[in-house]
Amino acid sequence: MTTPRLIWGSLSWRGRLHFRGQALRPRAWWRQALVRRYPELFRYPGWDDPHQSLMAFGFAHGNGWARILGGLARDLRTVAHTTGIQIHVTQVKEKFGTLHVYCGIAPDSPDAWKAVRAVVQRAEQVSARTCEDCGRPGQLMWKDQAWYRTVCRGCAGTAYEPVVMK
Ligand SMILES: [Zn+2]
Repeated sequence: MTTPRLIWGSLSWRGRLHFRGQALRPRAWWRQALVRRYPELFRYPGWDDPHQSLMAFGFAHGNGWARILGGLARDLRTVAHTTGIQIHVTQVKEKFGTLHVYCGIAPDSPDAWKAVRAVVQRAEQVSARTCEDCGRPGQLMWKDQAWYRTVCRGCAGTAYEPVVMK
């Protein structure tokens, strides 16, 4: 099955080279693909209104968590379909070293909310052992005992060291 791989490779290669006449940075690629694939989660009416949503700030974390976001979006769509609710993702960011995702649902439903919380918490837990930069297995590290990141040894650099819980 080499043909699909070749097609995908040439598409992403073209996308990186130029998009609307501008050079596209590789980091933007998965974010745009995710938003296009799941517009109901990320591009609902009011997504860029800071009173309703902080998605105007985008996916405020590194590329290593792209796969986690892809899985989360797929799971949220499944929850929306099975429960009949609408789900709006209102903020996605790194906080204290792990992924934090905030959502709103309509209409309100305790059961649907429970299902949404479950898939969001699972994604957040996976981020706690996934390098935010490269996606390989990572762990919580800190710099100056204050700045937290979940990264692998290779991406950590010399300033970061593993957090030891006492
Ligand atoms: Zn890494």
